Amino acid sequence: MLLDEILLANSFFVHEYRDRLKKLSHQPKKQVAIFTCMDTRLVEFLEPALGIKRGDAKIIKNAGNRIRDNCDDVIRSLAAAVYLLGVKEILVIGHLDCGMSRVNKDVLAERMLRYGIPKEEIGKVDLAGWIGGFSDTEENIFDAVRKIRQHQLIPKNIPVHGLLFSPDDGKIKVVVNGYE
Ligand SMILES: [Zn+2]
Repeated sequence: MLLDEILLANSFFVHEYRDRLKKLSHQPKKQVAIFTCMDTRLVEFLEPALGIKRGDAKIIKNAGNRIRDNCDDVIRSLAAAVYLLGVKEILVIGHLDCGMSRVNKDVLAERMLRYGIPKEEIGKVDLAGWIGGFSDTEENIFDAVRKIRQHQLIPKNIPVHGLLFSPDDGKIKVVVNGYE
């Protein structure tokens, strides 16, 4: 069972690190918040590729680093990071080969049915809009940067950068330079 495996790993971890862990502040040392995708290839890979260590950054993730509307919960997290946790810059990081760039709403509907979700519930939702798939990864990064910058509760003097990350070799391309 996965939970047993995780609990076992945890007891080893706690034992192994018990005298070596420093107590860290909850304020990010680099004063940065990163909004990125939940992609598994980014785990233990994106942060070292950016020179980010434990205690350095606030990291917010969702499927496809997508902000759908003005009330999106990502904005709430970014506001908390800025106003309560000392964040002074924001990085939006999309990545090549994102699973959310291939979302097919018919496949999604079909799988929901297979999992026992009633057809009438599925019919009530604009599935494509709700799941938030996209076709152009760079445009999706621009879109998130734009929504953060234009949000009425995010201050205008916080630079918001947009980056495109390769999950294969860790290389970054700057899509939006937030200082310009
Ligand atoms: Zn992704």
